[in-house]
Amino acid sequence: MATNSLHQALSTLVQPHQILSGKELEQRTYHVWKMDESLDVPAVILPETTEEVSAILKYCWDHNQEVVVHGGLTNLVGSTEVEPHQLVMAMDRMNAIEEVDTDSRTLTAQSGAIIENLINAAAEQDLLLPLNFGAKGSAQIGGAIATNAGGLRVFRYGMTRQMVLGLEVVLPDGRIVHSMKKVLKDNSGYDLKQLFIGAEGTLGVVTKVILRLVEAPKTRVSAFVGLDDYAQVVKLLKYLEKNLSGSLTGFELMWRNTYQTMIGVLNQQQAPLPPDYPYYVFVESLGMDGAKEYDRLENLIGKAMENEMIVDAVLVNSDRDLKHLWQIREDVSILASQGKFDQHFDISLPIPKIGVLVEDIQRQLDALPAVSHAFAFGHVADGNIHFMVGKDDDSDTTREAINKIVYAPLKANNGSVSAEHGIGLHKKAYLYTSRTGVEIEIMRSLKKLFDPKGILNPGRIFE
Ligand SMILES: Cc1cc2nc3c(=O)[nH]c(=O)nc-3n(C[C@H](O)[C@H](O)[C@H](O)COP(=O)(O)OP(=O)(O)OC[C@H]3O[C@@H](n4cnc5c(N)ncnc54)[C@H](O)[C@@H]3O)c2cc1C
Repeated sequence: MATNSLHQALSTLVQPHQILSGKELEQRTYHVWKMDESLDVPAVILPETTEEVSAILKYCWDHNQEVVVHGGLTNLVGSTEVEPHQLVMAMDRMNAIEEVDTDSRTLTAQSGAIIENLINAAAEQDLLLPLNFGAKGSAQIGGAIATNAGGLRVFRYGMTRQMVLGLEVVLPDGRIVHSMKKVLKDNSGYDLKQLFIGAEGTLGVVTKVILRLVEAPKTRVSAFVGLDDYAQVVKLLKYLEKNLSGSLTGFELMWRNTYQTMIGVLNQQQAPLPPDYPYYVFVESLGMDGAKEYDRLENLIGKAMENEMIVDAVLVNSDRDLKHLWQIREDVSILASQGKFDQHFDISLPIPKIGVLVEDIQRQLDALPAVSHAFAFGHVADGNIHFMVGKDDDSDTTREAINKIVYAPLKANNGSVSAEHGIGLHKKAYLYTSRTGVEIEIMRSLKKLFDPKGILNPGRIFE
């Protein structure tokens, strides 16, 4: 569609300040890590209401105009990359937190609200939104819903999917699906909202959400432990889950070279543990009684050391120490900046097999001449491991060689090519490693049902 007629049409649907074009696009980008690369599109449109989203999509539907939705631009699979003919619908201005309902323990917000702001709004009412990951200061709740984001507390509280009670979505043809209930139980037919969660914006634009909150724990204690052997990591997880009962909320694993790089760059006053253990685990326990929780964890860690499950440990509970410790795990942009080019992975594998398989992958990656390093870390309690592979060239040959090594064990071990980041544009060729032909066929049929013209987030997940 000619840019002029598109602008003209859009200006009848929203206010002038809600359409960015020309020079204004220099300030817009397709990813938070690519701030120097501005958008080359006919326009960015910034709706403020669900009705505006509906009117824009209706117009695009009628005129076969492709639309790509932009949330906080923190995805790691190329989902927000755009082509010059595509209109960008950015959700930034739909950021209202409409309600925190302390009796129902729910939070209602527009989809462009930043996750950290939602966490803070819940905390002000002594409630917890358990969604927590490194990009929470930029990622929007709509983006987290579209990618069914996971993060650091999944094995206790579930993925984003488990936190969504109600959802409002605008379909590619402009129709509004309003399923905004605060109730946990609703078996009146198909649970349609679940279809949009994790659909990467291919079936509709999320405009509003009701999230389920939990009572806020009052205290947070963490242990950081060093281990010699992966089998002990598995043992430690089972041991802590059993003995901390419901209060174990984080169990994150980091391999030695990843830890060494993080503490080298962060240059904190003092590294929490020496840099030469093969494995490091970050443990988090949330509870109601600080002194009791600390003693309980200290006691358990002490016994684990006596039994040679772990070789070293520190415990922290002050805000300052917790922040320093968890920065080592969360600030993964440091890892991404270590190579000339980098490639990210978020595979999942059965927990007991992770040690051997990761070692094997690392060995093969190290043998590739173009690879400068491969950092491994992740949500091991969910069977989810991240790799950040640094490389000297960004050729298709190198990318494919790396993909082949990391994805090789997935099919035989019933793993997944994406534990939490999604497929986007970058992993389409490997969808078959985690899904059967029938599953992919049904996914394609759903896309055809919701968006037969293919105008919304085209080419994501599959062609
Ligand atoms: C440092 C860092 C750490 C991360 N850690 C984790 C982690 O631990 N766990 C995890 O799961 N992920 C993690 N991620 C990736 C994670 O998927 C994203 O950060 C987040 O979920 C995406 O939200 P966003 O608002 O940035 O969406 P965007 O990146 O803007 O968009 C992601 C996808 O959602 C679509 N979309 C966005 N908004 C909407 C909407 N309102 N309606 C429909 N579609 C929409 C977009 O079109 C795109 O396809 C991390 C990313 C970074 C940079």
